[in-house]
Amino acid sequence: MNREGWVTSIARYLRLARLRSCNIDRVLVQLIVAIGLTAAAEASDVERWDSLQLLGREVPPGTSTKFPFIPDRSFEASYLNMPVFVARGVTPGPTLCLAAGVHGDELNGVEVVRRAFAQIDAQELRGTLIALPAINAEGVRTGNRYLSDRRDLNRAFPGSAGGSVARLIAHEVFTHVVIRCDALLDLHTASNKRANLPQIRADLSDPAIRELAIHFGLGIVVGGSGPDGSLRREAAKAGIPAIIYEAGEPFRFQEDEIERGAEGVENVMAYLDMTEQPEREIPDARVYERSRWVRTAVGNGGFFFPTANLGDLVQAGDSLGKIVDPLTDETFEVLSPIPGEIIGMAVPQPVLSGYALFHLAWHESN
Ligand SMILES: [Zn+2]
Repeated sequence: MNREGWVTSIARYLRLARLRSCNIDRVLVQLIVAIGLTAAAEASDVERWDSLQLLGREVPPGTSTKFPFIPDRSFEASYLNMPVFVARGVTPGPTLCLAAGVHGDELNGVEVVRRAFAQIDAQELRGTLIALPAINAEGVRTGNRYLSDRRDLNRAFPGSAGGSVARLIAHEVFTHVVIRCDALLDLHTASNKRANLPQIRADLSDPAIRELAIHFGLGIVVGGSGPDGSLRREAAKAGIPAIIYEAGEPFRFQEDEIERGAEGVENVMAYLDMTEQPEREIPDARVYERSRWVRTAVGNGGFFFPTANLGDLVQAGDSLGKIVDPLTDETFEVLSPIPGEIIGMAVPQPVLSGYALFHLAWHESN
């Protein structure tokens, strides 16, 4: 291996070590050992990089494939099954996992994964991409956020071998796929009758997760570790840096949100050194440590008409919209209680007291 080759290898190694939060002393010892190997090691390194064994399948280096999670045709498989996309690179590298359709009605991420995967040439890939584009496949087909047992899959991770359908699926996904990932991107949209500004959600207290979030390149990162049982929280607890891409509305495909998501996947792959593509210029991220919802004041229910928009920077006391009581024609102003950026909001609709209207994010120093 020539000098340039070593430098590239060392940089790649350190980046992966940083991603997995390795002890740096141990990394250096390993590095010295690695440098001591002869140039022949490079050739054998490539030889050692073998076929991926996953879910009873074999995926040879330099190939990509799509197959069902459960190979058998059966009554059970027909509603439990989900597609699996795998691209095995030609040279060693990290395993990046993409998850979408955890909430079956959230379609943008499903198309982000399809588009990102279609652009990958396994012959030029370092490492492995494993994508589960429709974990709640039945929900994606029928527009259902939840599973057939009416449970939220995103509260069931890491699952259990003897649990309900949600916990069984979570367990299968976690033990066969998630545990093998070096980094994980989970793709979501807002919930019913709401819309989200494209944003990354990440546990900012973990440096590896924070870096991953910023290198997605979206320019906006909102802090938080996610609820118990959510895929990204449980993956992070298992030592796998995991972030969420949140963008747009459920039940439909939205071109801008999909395109920005697919670009973000490319950016992360470049950051992890999985592709030859140079890293794009990463914009300075607006990193928000805190967020909260502005709700309909008690007794102020009616027809909601927002005037503020996603991405608006608002001050305390600014008007965000109004609610009209259709029986009294009384109008209630919705005011921002704090300065912040609108990262999520309800669409115009009838609302009752306590209904979440605007999601505001702000810096802790404010
Ligand atoms: Zn979701």
